[in-house]
Amino acid sequence: MPEDCIFCQIVDGEIPSRSVYEDEDVMAFLDANPLAPGHTLVIPKDHHETLGDLPEDAGAQVFETLHRLAPEIEAAVDADGSNVAFNNGEAAGQEVPHVHGHVIPRFEGDGGAPIHAIAGDRPDLSDEELDDIADAVAGRT
Ligand code: 5GP
Ligand code: ZN
Repeated sequence: MPEDCIFCQIVDGEIPSRSVYEDEDVMAFLDANPLAPGHTLVIPKDHHETLGDLPEDAGAQVFETLHRLAPEIEAAVDADGSNVAFNNGEAAGQEVPHVHGHVIPRFEGDGGAPIHAIAGDRPDLSDEELDDIADAVAGRT
């Protein structure tokens, strides 16, 4: 692990955290600067920077945990919903380079925005460009 990785240090217990779930491969703990009550981070215990770096089994374990915890976190703080998302890479706003999924509880009238609000200006794409993009992605899946 990189010695300066905050989340590796949390996994190792060198930095304290409010852990809400832990197993052999995954850990979930409250965000230190929460955007909402119950804001939780789910991480693989092994250090990987982005989703693209994460081995398939670790990705499945992280998603399994997000899937199981999101409704329980909502219930614990009496939320009306949640945003479940990754800032995947520096350009997407990832500040801690150890992959982590956010569960951000949402409340009716909380003044927040949907996930559509996070990207930059909307591109104006023609049907042909959309076809090309779909082909380019489909060709790699
Ligand atoms: P990112 O922008 O990388 O997706 O989000 C990193 C998140 O980690 C932020 O929401 C930030 O508040 C949280 N964070 C940063 N340092 C710590 C820490 O030492 N402990 C905990 N619990 N959360 C942290
Ligand atoms: Zn790490």
